[in-house]
Amino acid sequence: LFVTLEGIDGSGKSTQARRLAAALEAEGRAVTLTREPGGAPGAEEIRRLLVTGAPGRWSAETEILLFTAARRDHLERRLAPALAAGHIVICDRYVDSTRAYQGGDPARRALVDALHREAIGLDPDLTLLCDIAPEAAAARAAARAEGAGEDRFERKGLALQRALRARFLAMAEAEPARFRVVDAAAPEETVARRLRDALAPALDA
Ligand code: ATP
Ligand code: C5P
Repeated sequence: LFVTLEGIDGSGKSTQARRLAAALEAEGRAVTLTREPGGAPGAEEIRRLLVTGAPGRWSAETEILLFTAARRDHLERRLAPALAAGHIVICDRYVDSTRAYQGGDPARRALVDALHREAIGLDPDLTLLCDIAPEAAAARAAARAEGAGEDRFERKGLALQRALRARFLAMAEAEPARFRVVDAAAPEETVARRLRDALAPALDA
């Protein structure tokens, strides 16, 4: 079973991916917890190029190619083997993030989709969308940034986070069989329970 978590910056994806993986392991299930961009050594190298590069270093199209290259490496080295071994794979971000972040413009979205079809070809069985108002997510990111010395919201801006949220929600509406939209503005434990409940039908199937 291949499960992805998606959402805007600070929506709580990483926190919840860890919790979900731990909860499933505690139930005695074999779980692989991974993330994108990254999740395999080569893909993590590409992640560094993307995340630490100065803003504007790559064009949007080059970014799409780099994210797809990282995804292909992650697919070959980590995702496909884990799925073949019968693991439940919990992946923090996947192609829907590339669609949302790099695919805002129709021509770029077409490029993301075409590359996904030709070079990746694996879709999640279930995508859990951690939905939250950008203002609430920004407050979390700001709290974290005090420690980490970075604030993605300051860098990206609230307007972009609003656009990203709308793009994720539109994807969920277009593919209701794959997506579950979960209200992620609640305390950690509550969101964790909602996500575990959203997964139940797929696990019992
Ligand atoms: P990014 O995409 O920016 O890496 P993310 O979606 O993975 O973010 P996290 O890193 O899990 O989000 O959480 C962002 C911050 O918010 C962290 O400091 C985390 O401890 C905190 N946080 C996560 N979930 C909650 C919650 N339910 N309530 C309050 N704070 C939370
Ligand atoms: O969620 P994570 O912390 O792994 O994301 C790393 C950075 O890359 C974040 O700033 C996120 O907004 C950005 N990102 C992006 N396009 C993607 C995926 C992530 O710009 N497709």
